[in-house]
Amino acid sequence: MNRKQIFSKTAKKILNTALSMAIILTMLTLFMMPVKVSGAETAVRPTFQPISVSVKGEGLSVSWKKVTGAVTYDVYRSYSRTTGFKCIKKGVTARSFLDKKVKSGKKAYYKVRAAAAKDRLLCYSKPVPGIIYRVYIETGHGTGIDGRWDPGCLWNGYQEAKIMPAICRYTAAYLKNKGVYVYTDAYTGNNRNLKWTLNQLKTLDVSVFLNVHCDYQYAPSGTLGLYRTAKQKKLAECLNKGVHKHVNIKNRGLQYRTDLATLNETKNCVACLFETGGIKADNTLLRTKYVVYGRGLARGVCYYLGIEW
Ligand SMILES: [Zn+2]
Repeated sequence: MNRKQIFSKTAKKILNTALSMAIILTMLTLFMMPVKVSGAETAVRPTFQPISVSVKGEGLSVSWKKVTGAVTYDVYRSYSRTTGFKCIKKGVTARSFLDKKVKSGKKAYYKVRAAAAKDRLLCYSKPVPGIIYRVYIETGHGTGIDGRWDPGCLWNGYQEAKIMPAICRYTAAYLKNKGVYVYTDAYTGNNRNLKWTLNQLKTLDVSVFLNVHCDYQYAPSGTLGLYRTAKQKKLAECLNKGVHKHVNIKNRGLQYRTDLATLNETKNCVACLFETGGIKADNTLLRTKYVVYGRGLARGVCYYLGIEW
């Protein structure tokens, strides 16, 4: 390096330092300058903070933050993000609303309208989606409408209607753990038989109706999923897949049936009658492996509904 080069290098260094300092000084000056506030009294247009939608019991809870100047709120729902919003509740003065009538297994969008006195529109929130899944687990047989006990199939003092509840309770527990809302008679001593349940089902909206049974004493060992329609077959396949992931039991496959009320009288949901095994051939397994069995059935329901396991 000659002198000239050394000189030019030093000059460059000085210049760079000076430049950096100038930038820092300018920034500091700008930062410390008082911000001028406009004195004009321009009205702030009221806006919505993002609303929130979450599963609560049988329905979806829509909640929001207070909007300045708002007196009432109207809640809107649509099954499309952009169009078809219908007012499902007008004049809410609270800051949340529980929508129990939302369809099961269908993505719904909610929008809230904030209004000042005399219903003067202030603003709408942005649409926010939510989804709820409802499932009915009907424990095979049990107490009928007439109050009489139907034990289902029998073997060696065992009753089908008394073995199935434990499996159903665990199916329900695993599903609840996935955020699914479950209707069932498994916690109340199997006190509702099929006829009772089918009547109740007319007033409910569920995605899946699972009817849990075991087969009679002359049946071979293994599972058997019963279906009639294509959708029911798909559900039966999913349940079978779920069960055989967790339970070490023979697989009798699926069977097409046209004579079962479970499959014929459940038009507004997808049903399956699942034979968990034979009351004689799989007796010990059914009575002792109810935790994994419940897990398997729950997993099958999740496969069908597309719920991540
Ligand atoms: Zn049965």
